Amino acid sequence: MMVDLHIHTYFSDGTMSPEEVARDAYKKGLKVIAVTDHNNIEAYDRLKKSCEEYGIIAIRGVEIDCKYKDKVLHVLAYDFKDDKNLFDLINKSRNELLKTSVDLIDRMSKDFNEVSSEDYANYEYDRRKGAWKGVHYLLEKGLSQKLLDGLKYYKEYGCDYIEYDFSPIEKVCKAIKDAGGYAVLAHPSNFYSEFSKEGLIKVLEDLKDKGIDGIECYYPSNGEELTKTCVEFCKKNDMIITAGSDGHGEFTKTIKNIDYYIGAVKANIDDLNLRFIKR
Ligand SMILES: [Zn+2]
Ligand SMILES: [Zn+2]
Repeated sequence: MMVDLHIHTYFSDGTMSPEEVARDAYKKGLKVIAVTDHNNIEAYDRLKKSCEEYGIIAIRGVEIDCKYKDKVLHVLAYDFKDDKNLFDLINKSRNELLKTSVDLIDRMSKDFNEVSSEDYANYEYDRRKGAWKGVHYLLEKGLSQKLLDGLKYYKEYGCDYIEYDFSPIEKVCKAIKDAGGYAVLAHPSNFYSEFSKEGLIKVLEDLKDKGIDGIECYYPSNGEELTKTCVEFCKKNDMIITAGSDGHGEFTKTIKNIDYYIGAVKANIDDLNLRFIKR
């Protein structure tokens, strides 16, 4: 059974609807999938319904921004129940992320006549194009030539998301577990590809102590060595091993020659250790 436990829809920054994700997963021969939108769980009900028609198991998921030392890490939560505390944390992360753009436009409006906070508040973008409202707005106002070029302003104006008040990772992990779910470190290569094997193991030990239940060992940009280290670490510590493509539809389909489409990471469920899938 092939799985992909890291997919985005247009409820965050992907281009696809939940139904299109289910259909694409079916075409790719996937049997278990999870939509893990950034700080948003709205896609799940529609995804589940659509997956049932295709005979695919849909796992409830979300990707939450949280603080760990000098980084904002992404934690994937799976198979959690409705829980006010967890939902409050998810909403808080979503609001912090949106606030980066609100603050940016406010600061930029002092330098650029073409943007204003009021105009931004009323601005609507086509979610089918993926990405976030802020970068679409900057592109439309002619302040960037390409969609992601707009990101440079966030750093320039002190609105880099590292500056924002995301919840500490231990708090997020606890809330996930209190809701009966599992907390998995997303794409370790995005954060630790420069680390030595020893350095990586040290950080994984610490993250385990903070409440991480598993690692996304199989991911498009996880190198061979890093994957091996993470798999060994999970096996040694009886932790969950997951696989995800981070597919966003047409948005960021290929980055630095690496593919991120749905099913790009072909992982067999037998190589994983997914406690939340009852077979
Ligand atoms: Zn991520
Ligand atoms: Zn993601």
